[in-house]
Amino acid sequence: MRIVLVEDNLQLATTIAEGLTEDGYTVHSVATAAGAIERGMRRDLDLMVLDLGLPDRDGIEVLRELRAARINVPVLVLTARDAVDARVAALDAGADDYLVKPFAFAELVARIAALARRAAGPRWAPASDVPLTMRDDLVIESGDRTVSLSPREYALFGCLLRRRGEVVARTEILRDAFGYEFDPGTNVIDVHLNHLRKKLQGFPVSIETVRGAGIRLVVAE
Ligand code: CA
Repeated sequence: MRIVLVEDNLQLATTIAEGLTEDGYTVHSVATAAGAIERGMRRDLDLMVLDLGLPDRDGIEVLRELRAARINVPVLVLTARDAVDARVAALDAGADDYLVKPFAFAELVARIAALARRAAGPRWAPASDVPLTMRDDLVIESGDRTVSLSPREYALFGCLLRRRGEVVARTEILRDAFGYEFDPGTNVIDVHLNHLRKKLQGFPVSIETVRGAGIRLVVAE
């Protein structure tokens, strides 16, 4: 699961990122509102942890911009502002949860897990036109059929499913599903694609390789 952590206190950001990484999350840290919006607009994150006091703009504005762009990723606001009206303002702007600093790391983790579970429901599930469900326990479900994926396969499938019908470039897949900002120069995508194709036999999707362009997931009518 990919978390974008928006926090300008670098020491705190490092501590949180290290803790979440140990818990198995993929964490991308950004320190500005502009960075948060840019990252959010890519639509490839599963959850955002958002500080409100940022150096360039208020975190509330990040929320408003993302929500205005219909980006419904769960957002957990993390801030030193503890007044009731500050919480209400954040929730009104589209926050899903709110945690006041200083906080216990265990509570942050518990809330992230809770948001992830909730997000696995209809709100962040694929659109209703897709006859399958990505469960948060890495199981893909379609009718009576289920298959269990590895975290990488699951991320790869989610990345393709979100952009179904489109050819997704390999560099985008590497970034979105694997967290690589660089090309590792291996056939890592193909290895996972092969596994995925085998596992998804009988499911109403097909994964096509478009030579020289990328990968496309097609959902059967
Ligand atoms: Ca701050």
